[in-house]
Amino acid sequence: MYPDKKITIAIDGYSSCGKSTLAKALAKKLGYIFIDSGAMYRGVTLYCMRHQLILDGKPLNEKIEQALPFIKLSFIYNASTEKHDLYLNDENVEELIRMPDVASNVSHIATIKCVREKLVDEQQKMGQYGGIVMDGRDIGSVVFPNAELKLFVTASPEIRAERRLKELTQKGVSANFKTVLANLVERDLIDSTRTESPLIQTKDAVFIDTSNLTPTEQLQLSLTFVNQVLENCKDKTNC
Ligand code: C5P
Repeated sequence: MYPDKKITIAIDGYSSCGKSTLAKALAKKLGYIFIDSGAMYRGVTLYCMRHQLILDGKPLNEKIEQALPFIKLSFIYNASTEKHDLYLNDENVEELIRMPDVASNVSHIATIKCVREKLVDEQQKMGQYGGIVMDGRDIGSVVFPNAELKLFVTASPEIRAERRLKELTQKGVSANFKTVLANLVERDLIDSTRTESPLIQTKDAVFIDTSNLTPTEQLQLSLTFVNQVLENCKDKTNC
């Protein structure tokens, strides 16, 4: 069903809309690499928090730029979750980067040009041979503008907040609906209005509203788009 041709799949969308779950499932089905680019922004944020590079909620841009060479991010496969965990300078920070304190700072860090340049460069290297599903905010617009398939995923803010709250509760993190919703709405606003690589739906992206779709339905739907792309690629040498 899935030929040797390995395409690049870019998935963008609002916070907690199910992008990573979909990207992970697609990658597993296709035998591709899955990269959660948001984890990388969260990793840089955790470093900045630990090194007092954020003062009263405001990032200290110059100091962050000086610190960037000392921030090493890597993904290492975790067989129990079937996912790559993020390592920050060789420490597994996969759990820590999902905590609410990181969530409330990350969008501010993600507005910084030099941070984006470093991470985009690393992401492009990871995807240079295709066979990758990457999710984030600027994947179809900046990281892989030539991706063969681009998906733009969304869901209503309330549904996204419910899903996020469930995830946090399952991890034993105390949070409430109102705070989670407020964080999502704030991140969406910062992410879509920032100067550097704002979240946009590119013209060539397929729009998917996951509000009323189960993860399995989202996967099935996305696979139909993958198959269409692979079908179109059959006779073309440039894709
Ligand atoms: O996807 P996730 O919610 O983990 O991303 C956390 C934050 O990282 C986003 O709210 C956004 O500010 C930033 N981000 C970004 N560009 C990406 C991925 C994430 O700006 N490609």
